[in-house]
Amino acid sequence: MRIAGYLSITLSCWLAACAPAPLTENNDPAASDSSNNLLYAVAWKQTAAEYEALYLQGFNMARLQVQQALANRNSTDKPLAVISDLDDTLLLAHDYWGYLINADRDFFDDIAWDRWIAEQGVFPSPGALEFLRYCASNGIEVFYVTNRDQGDITFDLALQSLQTAGFPYADAEHLTVLRETSNKEAVQDSIRENHKVVVMLGDNLNDFSRKFYVTDVSERKNLVHGEQARFGQDYIIFPNPTDGHWIRAIFGESEPIASAQNRTILKAAATLRAWVPSG
Ligand SMILES: [Mg+2]
Repeated sequence: MRIAGYLSITLSCWLAACAPAPLTENNDPAASDSSNNLLYAVAWKQTAAEYEALYLQGFNMARLQVQQALANRNSTDKPLAVISDLDDTLLLAHDYWGYLINADRDFFDDIAWDRWIAEQGVFPSPGALEFLRYCASNGIEVFYVTNRDQGDITFDLALQSLQTAGFPYADAEHLTVLRETSNKEAVQDSIRENHKVVVMLGDNLNDFSRKFYVTDVSERKNLVHGEQARFGQDYIIFPNPTDGHWIRAIFGESEPIASAQNRTILKAAATLRAWVPSG
């Protein structure tokens, strides 16, 4: 039996034992400052130079791939291109996470996210602007593919984010916003019809391939190890300790509600392996 299968069973038992009605945003007892389960992850995003170095490292690796592709390009090749995710890859949202901490929220808050996105508080990740401009200066097109949903204004908000950040190719031809699905493969395939994609950039495995869209913790890890050679090659991944499909693998959904049940599930995930002192 896989570890994740064990985790799922364990979590199910906890759920059955707890069995309270799901808590909503309004009646959820806000976590106290000292127990807010987002604190470490958000503090790391906000302060760690290592976090920023991982972005620089990722974009350096992407640049190496681009340089190699330029050097090896044949005149008969399709034009070169890069495909990138937006949030937590090219754009960071520290202010949003800081807001959640100040508001005693300890899970992703979709309502606050939509309001905050509309205020255009995102800013470029370290090295993003330089890498994308390097691509543009060498004639390599950049295609942006994102999953966002802020209603009818989603596309305009995302495009505005790109333009405000100063990214190249910030136009309707190069931006795809997927509101109904997180599956990016159809868009990736259509880009490949007319371009040779050098690298894909993302903070979520799903940004690279839908094959990673599974809810089993152990299976996700196995899939990554099965594609080991691609990371740092055509898959360039960036760190995200606050959200993504790794959350979905724990809770069964990407945006679990703030509840006592889900805090228990999170603790079970955090203690998947845990030392029990002898004696
Ligand atoms: Mg992302």
